[in-house]
Amino acid sequence: MQFKARIAHAIVGALLTGTLLHSAPTYATELSAVETQQVNAQQAQALGLAVPYSAKVPTIESVLGYPAASRISSPAAIEAYFVKLAEQFPAQVKLNYYGKSWEGRNLYYVAISSAENMAAFANFQRGMQQLSAADKTSAQQANKLIAELPASVWLSYGVHGNEISSPEAAMLTAYHLLAAEDEQTASYLNNAVVFIDPVQNPDGRSRFVSRYYMTAGLEHSADRHSAEHNEPWPSGRSNHYLFDLNRDWIALTQPEISGQVEALLENMPLVFVDLHEMGGDSSYYFTPEADPYNPLITKKQRETLWYIGENNAQWFDERGYDYFTREIFDAFYPGYGASWPLYHGSISMTYEMASARGHVFRTKDGDILTYGDGVQRHFVASIATIEAVAQQRQQLLKNFWDYRTQGIDAGSDSKQRVYLFAGQKDPAGTQRLVGLLTRHGVQVQQAKEAFSACGVKYPAGSFWVDTAQPAHYMARTLLDKNIAMDDKFIAEQERLRANNLPDQIYDVTAWSLPLMFNLDYQTCSRVPRAENQLATEQLVKPGTVLNADAEVGYIVPWGDMNAGRFLTEALRAGLTVKRTDLAFTHKNKQRYPAGSLILTHAQNAHLTAAVQKIALSSGATVHGVDSSWVTDGPNFGSNNVKLVHAPNIVMLWDEPVSSLNAGHSRYVIEQQFGYPVTAMRAAQLSRADLSHYQVLILPSTYGSLSSALGENGEANVKKWVENGGVLITFGNATEWAVQSDLLNSALERVINENPQGHGSEKKVDGLLIKSKAEHMHYITPDAADPYWTAGVLTNLDVDLEHWLSAGVQPNLISVTVGNQIYRPLSIEHGRNIVSYSKDVLASGYLWEENQQQLAYKPYLMWQPRQRGMVISFTQEPTYRAYLDGLNLLLLNAIFGGAAHATPLR
Ligand SMILES: [Zn+2]
Repeated sequence: MQFKARIAHAIVGALLTGTLLHSAPTYATELSAVETQQVNAQQAQALGLAVPYSAKVPTIESVLGYPAASRISSPAAIEAYFVKLAEQFPAQVKLNYYGKSWEGRNLYYVAISSAENMAAFANFQRGMQQLSAADKTSAQQANKLIAELPASVWLSYGVHGNEISSPEAAMLTAYHLLAAEDEQTASYLNNAVVFIDPVQNPDGRSRFVSRYYMTAGLEHSADRHSAEHNEPWPSGRSNHYLFDLNRDWIALTQPEISGQVEALLENMPLVFVDLHEMGGDSSYYFTPEADPYNPLITKKQRETLWYIGENNAQWFDERGYDYFTREIFDAFYPGYGASWPLYHGSISMTYEMASARGHVFRTKDGDILTYGDGVQRHFVASIATIEAVAQQRQQLLKNFWDYRTQGIDAGSDSKQRVYLFAGQKDPAGTQRLVGLLTRHGVQVQQAKEAFSACGVKYPAGSFWVDTAQPAHYMARTLLDKNIAMDDKFIAEQERLRANNLPDQIYDVTAWSLPLMFNLDYQTCSRVPRAENQLATEQLVKPGTVLNADAEVGYIVPWGDMNAGRFLTEALRAGLTVKRTDLAFTHKNKQRYPAGSLILTHAQNAHLTAAVQKIALSSGATVHGVDSSWVTDGPNFGSNNVKLVHAPNIVMLWDEPVSSLNAGHSRYVIEQQFGYPVTAMRAAQLSRADLSHYQVLILPSTYGSLSSALGENGEANVKKWVENGGVLITFGNATEWAVQSDLLNSALERVINENPQGHGSEKKVDGLLIKSKAEHMHYITPDAADPYWTAGVLTNLDVDLEHWLSAGVQPNLISVTVGNQIYRPLSIEHGRNIVSYSKDVLASGYLWEENQQQLAYKPYLMWQPRQRGMVISFTQEPTYRAYLDGLNLLLLNAIFGGAAHATPLR
């Protein structure tokens, strides 16, 4: 505390009063000794901490050529600074690379601690592994580790690339830890290992920085309407595939997050902070969180969150910084960076600073918020958190151990102790789920022999998760079908809604992986007795070719992503592939589902080698056949067996498209299906000759598609569809298809059985309102939209008698977000291939009237238009790229659609 009392107020703003525009930085400017000392003195002032700094530690200016917080540093510049620190202080700084972004930028973190702790870093990592393996470590060993190990804190900066101040604060934090020559900082490093991940999203930050400086003029603008403060599409928030990386901690689809998760599991830090920015008119947010809390978060964890928040508050009070807690940012959805570590027993939280979104920003109160203000506050919050962690070393270690042992106990006591996956319905999806669970640090067992559990028989190769394991809560969070929200919180939301006030549900209320992957599982209270082995991180198991030397050709049974990947790879390899619309039984007595792929030697040269290669990489099981004889269903030459063309796919890109949905969709098709997509802006789409494209995808939009495409665009798309194009719409792009008369559906308003007939007359008859309820009814507009939902999992029923549903299971699960409800197509116009079930809700919290109104309404509609067709999803099947259970439907839409359209060739 003494130390903090000596701390001067922040003076970083003073550094920013000079020239704001800088020439291109030079990263390796070598300064003279005198210059270095001067710069260090300036830097000490910039930090606002009146402690002596060693001149031996390179400052930001000495490495990058400009003072701290005077420029929004590029990812390359920030990396250069950390590389320099690691080179100059190998005894205290360890730099680790954990991957590369899509655009090829390095993903890395540094560990900083005392020389003594870093010399024993391997011991530290081993010790944390032992402490987390509460199933293998004795209480006695644990006590010894708790007494001896340093605490650890992981600070992750800049996950949203346009939240600019935190990566700069990462450099200052590292500088301070190494250069400060006071006792407090030394005691932090004696007691804790500090992990710094300075730039979680280098592609997004790079996008922001390059475009931001393009807009700058003679002076930086504080005007919120200036180009400086309004980014073009897509903003720097997202990564290359336009993902919000702070929602990817469940599916781990992006290298920035999957790599970080791997690094976290290696080090198991006790505390994790994700440092963000929010709107420029706010102040600073830190823990404790807003309600609701996820019920799997323990009381102990909440107490520690409170402790850290209170410690931050002291530091903020000393500097007169405004802040708030317990509002807006909740801890329910586990797919945030600030949530994921909680389910391994760490403490994790988000910090949010008001963003200048540039160098200077005038707030609604008329104050000037600077970039330096953000850097300063994130720096102070970082140091405050490190202090709290160092002070609570032993307690944090003990809490972590207790959490891991409690998990084992909770699993042992549970009636649903074991989750079992037979996996026959969808081998590819099951393999992916198991690989993913393993990547999350959950132990999964694979049976080497057949067995029975709770009266059900399982074949060899089946998987199970015994939740009596240290990662119990992580397993539960990812696998449970429903995580209940606090009753009081729900009651409050209904009260707000009844009073025409917005609800406080921040994000989706459901995320169960088996539901989203559409995989069945059973639970059992007893652990199966079967020889088994630990499952691996493998997401795709190499496939095989049965009867590889087949004389006539090969059949790939349709029904999972292994077959899907086989199809795209075969098409890209130039093979001739046919696809059956109807199930058939081959002479070999095998039944093949609709959608199955047929490749023959007669139509393909060198087929055997190609099929072997593709089976291996795709995971598909391929059946060689020595005869084309079919005993039931269509023959290979039937009209019900269609040639699959390798379609050229074009997707609408840029304004007014939702960057998230465009990015998710492009990612699913390119990286999960393995097939390229051409991105095209509205202006080109309106005019271009589209005839060499077979499939056009319109993702969800934020703005108006009608005005973006205009009449010419609409006419161009219509003509193209009628000439044989396959138009696929996602989410609210379906509304455009309706407005343009391409799809004969309609958007529904909220159900209103007793409209009040609100007119526009200025003088009306008197009215008696006799109750509060009548009053509420009277003020409700006649033509309101259904109530908005942040997102739930919903049940769908599939019409299996169509090529669009070939190989698809009769019941599916989707995410439903927003308030769009469509009328079913009448049979004269088309087919409702997938509809909401009678029991709509699969998981999460959805308003009762939305559940009622959604029942039997369309999820996927198909309408033929002359030589082409319209295929409309009323929601986003690619939502967060984690609805793997819908992938087959999308593959059918793209490749089945292209095979069924009849353009003039
Ligand atoms: Zn953020």
